[in-house]
Amino acid sequence: MGERSLVEVANLHRRYGDVHAVQGLNFRLDRGEVLGFLGPNGAGKTTTMQMICGVLAPSEGAVHIGGVDLLEDPIAAKRQLGYLPEQPPLYRELTVDEYLRYCAQLHGLRNRDAAAAIEETKTRCGLEHVGRRLIGNLSKGYRQRVGIAQAILHRPPVVVLDEPTVGLDPIQIREIRELMSELGDDHGVILSTHILAEVQAVCDRVQILHEGRLVLDEDLAQLSKKQQPRSTRVRMRRPPGREVLAGLAAVTSVEALDAETFRLHHGEDETLGERIAAASAAGDWGLYELVGESRSLEEIFVELTFGEGP
Ligand code: ATP
Repeated sequence: MGERSLVEVANLHRRYGDVHAVQGLNFRLDRGEVLGFLGPNGAGKTTTMQMICGVLAPSEGAVHIGGVDLLEDPIAAKRQLGYLPEQPPLYRELTVDEYLRYCAQLHGLRNRDAAAAIEETKTRCGLEHVGRRLIGNLSKGYRQRVGIAQAILHRPPVVVLDEPTVGLDPIQIREIRELMSELGDDHGVILSTHILAEVQAVCDRVQILHEGRLVLDEDLAQLSKKQQPRSTRVRMRRPPGREVLAGLAAVTSVEALDAETFRLHHGEDETLGERIAAASAAGDWGLYELVGESRSLEEIFVELTFGEGP
């Protein structure tokens, strides 16, 4: 196992009767990395996270957390983990402070350490002003923050968050995303989400799960580099006829978006932009916008997971 590797998953399987929910997963998470887990409903994201966090036994395979075998030494392995499940384990009748004190005890933090950790975590999660409020009376967004707070309270190297921004308003989403990016600086974070923009905003790496198998495991920076534009949007004050645009080498079809804007579909061609600019100068088209459009993560997602199960 590599030195920076915080989580290592090898040949992980989980069956529920006849349902093969997770089928032979292999991946690792390094320190300083935020890994986004994507997949359609039922792809096996929650099942995988539960196995990584030791709340569900795998049918087959191994999980190491910080070099410790989760099945052989679950207590030592789980000490290095913080987990926000899909339904956070909150006690509605406790105040935020009481609940976090209780969580600190569960994590084995002693008095002074516990008090310092609670204060720091409340600040990090924007909970400074609600310490005395009953959890049951908080808005959903604030309850979600409390759920995240219990996951990071003991400063675990690995933080696993199952759909952390579900039900939050846009401002809260932005704050929680900032928090996740920040956590990624010195922890390893795995988060599942259905929001593709969230992956693009906070993750370093994306994995797409489909019917229990990884169909994509890619560095986001690499992914965008590899995505050669397949279409180019051009805006011109005095556009030529469509047939002129369609006649440019490498262009396969032309879509008119409005009187001045066209989308040119084409194969991979690094010189097309340059050639459009030159043709515009020669023909006085008044070109004022030229944008290469890469395949979005959404398009990649749909392509890889289209036609899924039930
Ligand atoms: P979602 O995005 O809807 O939360 P998911 O990717 O988290 O989906 P899982 O909840 O891991 O998917 O489910 C994977 C598969 O395992 C599904 O087919 C689901 O019906 C099945 N499954 C999950 N839990 C159980 C269970 N306790 N008993 C039987 N089948 C289960």
